[in-house]
Amino acid sequence: MSKSIVLLGSTGSIGVNSLIIAKQYNIVIEALVAGSNIDLLNQQIATHAPKRVVIANERDKHRVNHHNVHCGADAILTLIEESQSTTIVNALVGYAGLAPTLKATNLGKRVALANKESLVVAGEFIDMSLITPIDSEHFGLWYLMNDRPVSKLYITASGGAFRDWEINKMKDARFSDALKHPNWSMGNKITIDSATMTNKLFELLEAKWLFHTSNIDAMIEKKSIIHALCEFKDGSTTAHFAGVDMKLPIAFALQGEVTDEILPPTDLLSMGGLEFLPIEAERYPIWNIKEHILNNPHLGVVVNAANEVAIEKFQNEKCSFFGMSDIVLDAYEKFGDVKASNIEDVVTIDKEVRVYAN
Ligand code: NAD
Ligand code: MG
Repeated sequence: MSKSIVLLGSTGSIGVNSLIIAKQYNIVIEALVAGSNIDLLNQQIATHAPKRVVIANERDKHRVNHHNVHCGADAILTLIEESQSTTIVNALVGYAGLAPTLKATNLGKRVALANKESLVVAGEFIDMSLITPIDSEHFGLWYLMNDRPVSKLYITASGGAFRDWEINKMKDARFSDALKHPNWSMGNKITIDSATMTNKLFELLEAKWLFHTSNIDAMIEKKSIIHALCEFKDGSTTAHFAGVDMKLPIAFALQGEVTDEILPPTDLLSMGGLEFLPIEAERYPIWNIKEHILNNPHLGVVVNAANEVAIEKFQNEKCSFFGMSDIVLDAYEKFGDVKASNIEDVVTIDKEVRVYAN
């Protein structure tokens, strides 16, 4: 019997790439979940013939060309519960991805997890043995690791939209400016998180939970050709080179082992020079809390909630670009003493931080 998956967030950047890989490996799409891009969803339904579909809002239901459509966040949980698939691909964006991750892992299903916010917010309460990350850096780390003793892990950052801007000019940067990522084409939220370096902070936390270590750091590699490096106790450092394309980590997450060519190999001669640069807190104020949060990863829920509020304010021109980090750092200080003992606490803290940040 062919493998089957439930795909959450099918119309997004990760979702679309996941469907390309699923087709390549004849993986059956049991169900599709999407937000409001109904035109693309209808194309996906026509191509992949899912048994079931869930969308965000009731008001769009009549536009979906399918006989079995449900709406809203609870419908996603019911879908996971009633699905036959043992793998759920979670490519939802933000906090909305947490409940589906928990539902799936509580049922013992494997989660191919692009929604890194799940781990940032509640890594402590998620069964990591059921998680396969869909993130280029963590895929790179996994690829590099072997049985030799590791001393430190590194992931790289592109530096985001403003890496070459004068810092003074960044004060007036707009949402549309922040969406101009130099290397990757991704959804809006992660692109903004790249401009503020919040994405990399989240990825450090993601690595912390996945690889059980706080001995991890990040640096800028502007070409995004190297995604991760592994430093071994013996003094060797190895690096993972691959194209700027999420199909490679997705192929491994969906297929397990991969022996076909997913991407063309890196053209080393056309690459030119490579350079590694430090991440500076003046340009990326969120970096001020990096060390502290790596030692207190339970505070991820605070940063994530404040960050989601801040992005919305920035988008609606209610705060400046640096106003976003002000909001996050202020909440981080205010809620520095909170510590969730279970998921219910996480949900309460998330709500409280949102109210405060708003
Ligand atoms: P995106 O914005 O392109 O896609 C999000 C998807 O979720 C869309 O299909 C959207 O319709 C759906 N969605 C949003 N709200 C919904 C709701 N309430 N109900 C149902 N569906 C809803 O985002 P993306 O760039 O694909 O990122 C998805 C996740 O993957 C994020 O957590 C991101 O950090 C992570 N990620 C993305 C990339 C990338 O290259 N894009 C790389 C690594 C990790
Ligand atoms: Mg990444």
